[in-house]
Parts: sequence; structure tokens; C-alpha cells
Amino acid sequence: MIKGKIIKAISGFFYVECDSGIIECKARGILRKKNVTPIIGDNVIISTTDSNCGIIEEVMLRKTELVRPSVANIDKVFITFAIKEPNPNLSLLDRFIVFSEKMGLDIVILLSKVDLDENLEKTKSIVDEYSKVGYKVIPVSIVTGQNMDKVKQEMKGCTSVFAGQSGVGKSSIINSIVPALNLETSEISHKLGRGKHTTRHAQLFKIDEDTIFADTPGFSSFEINDVDEDELKHYFIEFSGLGECRFGNKCIHKNEPDCVVKEAVENGEISKRRYESYLQILEEIKSYNSFG
Ligand code: GDP
Ligand code: ZN
Repeated sequence: MIKGKIIKAISGFFYVECDSGIIECKARGILRKKNVTPIIGDNVIISTTDSNCGIIEEVMLRKTELVRPSVANIDKVFITFAIKEPNPNLSLLDRFIVFSEKMGLDIVILLSKVDLDENLEKTKSIVDEYSKVGYKVIPVSIVTGQNMDKVKQEMKGCTSVFAGQSGVGKSSIINSIVPALNLETSEISHKLGRGKHTTRHAQLFKIDEDTIFADTPGFSSFEINDVDEDELKHYFIEFSGLGECRFGNKCIHKNEPDCVVKEAVENGEISKRRYESYLQILEEIKSYNSFG
């Protein structure tokens, strides 16, 4: 029996990285009966018949689990969005944050392409807004190389994934940190005359002994529909620690009287824009639940 980690999965075959290298595996039938489908990122125990082929016998308990695409045991997400080209969509950023909080991931926000912000005014205001909420926000540029070492430092010691709209510079950032990966960027895919990501599978890359990068081409959008109405408030982390609303933890901070969150918005302690983002997502969940 050997311990390993699934780094790639293609049509029923799992590629498991172990001390001795990468072993192609099939899953033991009993796993299907137990309703366990191995996914990339899973820590597994395999048995081998010969040196090139193995059987996955057991899947260890997952620390986190992402869906669409399925990846297990991600620790940290770098939510990436650009200061320009495309313009920052903060309400989308808030959705990525909600999703990542729900999944239990550590969050680092990367504000990319800051070389395109001439006076850095916009950069500063976004960094301020999200730092105040309590997030680490790192302004980066592959043109000037600004803060690339910081991103590298943040990747160290964990399994991380980059999320964000297409075109914000995710592949470019990774390539500048780990040139050996040589991910396809939109420029290259234009040159080759094809859309990016069309043939790529989700895959894990071991960058060094304790640093893993998950390349998941699908992780650019998601559905908010698996968050409940009374759950959403927990994923706006600045709403906690303000004190008790009159309706206690039943308060969804919307129309209730004596609500500490609404008070904090009124006196400027909490960003009004973030609060509006919250109300908007709340509304969406509500209409999804009544018509969905
Ligand atoms: P992805 O879809 O998020 O992986 O984005 P890409 O890495 O493919 O980048 C999209 C485009 O943005 C490419 O043309 C990159 O050259 C460009 N880009 C990426 N990072 C920067 C940056 O820091 N500054 C500028 N000016 N352009 C960038
Ligand atoms: Zn309240």
C-alpha cells in the first residue's frame, strides 16, 4: 500500500503522485458502491500490481471540496481581478468571496494589471475597501513585476488555485512566478487561432515539496444557488463582531429594526457598496428559491 495524491484525472484513469513518481491508477469498484468518486487533489492509498499500474483502494477525508470542476483539498484561493481590461467588477468579486468563504478557503485578493492605473487612485481605493473588510489585497503587475515575490510567498506551503474572470491575467501571473509551467495565455491561444482552455483538464502541479498549484480552467464563474438566505451573512465577514441585532442571529440585516449591520453601514463603518452587494445576492437567492 502506497500513499499519494491524485494530480490528474482523464476518462476513468487517475494519475497519482507518490514518492516513487506518478502512477496511473483505476479506482477500486467498492469505492463506487460507497459513493466515493475520486477527484484531483484527493489524498489516496493505492496498491500496485506492477510498477506502472495501480488501484485506488481508499480516499482520505477531504479538507475542502470544490465543484465544477471538482478539486479536493485546496487551501487557498487567489481571487484575481484587473484594474483595467477588463474593468473591475466588484459585485462579481463579492460573489467569488462568498463562494470561497463557503468552501472554507483562505482568501487572497490579487488586483492585477495595476501598471494600467496611471495615478493608482482606483487601485488605492479598492485595496483600502477590501483591506478594511479584513482581506489581504495584493496589487500586482507582470509588466513591472510589482509584488510578484509576495504572491510567490503566499503560495508557499499550500495548495492554491487562481479564480477570476477570463482575461484578468491569471495564467500570466503564474507563468511569471513559475515559468516552467508555461500555461497558455490568451495571447498564445490567439496566435494558435483557438479559444483558450478548450482542451485543458484540471490538474495539480507540484511546484516544490510543500507548494502545489491547481490549474482549473473552469474556475472562472459559479452558481450562487447553493447558499441559503440565512447563511449568506456569514460570508460577509465584516458583519460579524459588531454586536447583537434585536433579532439576534435570526436577523438577515435587511428590514429588521435595531440592526447593528445597518447601523454600521449608516455610520460608515461598513462599506455601503459591500452592503448593497449583499442585498443584491440575497435577492437573487430568494428569487432562485421561489422559482428554481
Ligand atoms: P487569464 O485568462 O486570466 O489567464 O489571463 P491571461 O494571463 O491570458 O492574460 C490576459 C491578457 O492580459 C494577456 O494579453 C496578458 O498579456 C495581459 N496581462 C496579464 N497581466 C498583465 C499585467 O500585469 N499588465 C498588463 N498591462 N497586461 C497584462
Ligand atoms: Zn441585523
